[in-house]
Amino acid sequence: MKCPRCLNTDKEYFYKGSKGWYCRRCISFGRAMLEEESEPVSLSSVTEGSEEYTLQYPLTESQERIAEQCAELIDTTDVLLYCVCGAGKTELVVPSIAKMLRKGKKVCFAIARRQVVLELGERLKTYFPKAKVTAVCGGHTKETDGEIIVSTTHQLYRYYQAFDLLILDEPDAFPYRGSDVLHGIAKTACRGRTVYLTATPDEELSRRLQDKSIACLRLNRRPHGRPLPVPRIVTGPVFYLAVELVKWLKKHEMHPRMVFVPKIQTAEILGKILGIFTPCYVCTSASADRDEVIRRFRKKKHGIMVCTTVLERGVTIPGADICVMFADSEIFDEAALIQMAGRAGRSFDHPEGDVLFLCSEKSSLTEVCVKKLQEANRCAV
Ligand SMILES: [Zn+2]
Repeated sequence: MKCPRCLNTDKEYFYKGSKGWYCRRCISFGRAMLEEESEPVSLSSVTEGSEEYTLQYPLTESQERIAEQCAELIDTTDVLLYCVCGAGKTELVVPSIAKMLRKGKKVCFAIARRQVVLELGERLKTYFPKAKVTAVCGGHTKETDGEIIVSTTHQLYRYYQAFDLLILDEPDAFPYRGSDVLHGIAKTACRGRTVYLTATPDEELSRRLQDKSIACLRLNRRPHGRPLPVPRIVTGPVFYLAVELVKWLKKHEMHPRMVFVPKIQTAEILGKILGIFTPCYVCTSASADRDEVIRRFRKKKHGIMVCTTVLERGVTIPGADICVMFADSEIFDEAALIQMAGRAGRSFDHPEGDVLFLCSEKSSLTEVCVKKLQEANRCAV
């Protein structure tokens, strides 16, 4: 037995109700009956001319090359766009989206986090002015049809066998990452090809790369052409790290500074202590008004923000320098470290950026992170 929606085959999850067998692994999305033939969901057809697009900035030469290769490869295979943080990965798939629309095919951009769905929906509307772009996420589910659908991975359960091209943005991000149900639902929503966009491929993608079931295109350069900031690692006892942190904050006081910490409680305490001397924002998963805090911090040119990994992805603060306090904490995995470091040096005005990892103990993960960033810089030349 196999669940037609989440592809579960574990017998433990199958139950027999009055109307027959159903799957309990994906029950939060409604009952998926096993014996009923599932029909592909029917969506409106794509209108002519919807594929016309204009980008805000022209693609750089290397972006253009990869974007073209991707549009070609999707005819025959799934593709991994393995791009460093800040490489402009959304823009890389625009020609692929246009190609599919031209053929009358359905395209979906799926993202783990809701906030990014809304932002990206707006961005794609400006790129594809003639296409109907529909953002679908919690609170936005009245309209679920469109020529380009931008959806949270949670909402993909609405689209059984609906898409010819599914673009999965940051499949290594929570909650998609590690969720077998969401992985299954994404697979059943797509009847064609999948393109994965990430700076930090997870084990599943690494496995697919090894068995060559997916093509990989790498982009190691940001549009401004400067190397990625490589973290400097400082190790020592807590009081020593505190002194280093204060020195670092002072040295970079002309820029916005983000200090990542592993725990909410640490963020709150550190925010309070620093707040005695200088205005300081705190942003964690416990902050009710996260968007507002980010908006206020963005406005300040030289502010300090103490945050947890809740801001490790998706947030761009132009000109920000980054410090990760207790970077050796087991809360941070390699992807989180690379993503946090990737917040620095993203803008054309401040392409260098500074990244500092403060560690209580020597840690192999921080060293791996440094090596990977150095390697990306070497390969980019
Ligand atoms: Zn299921």
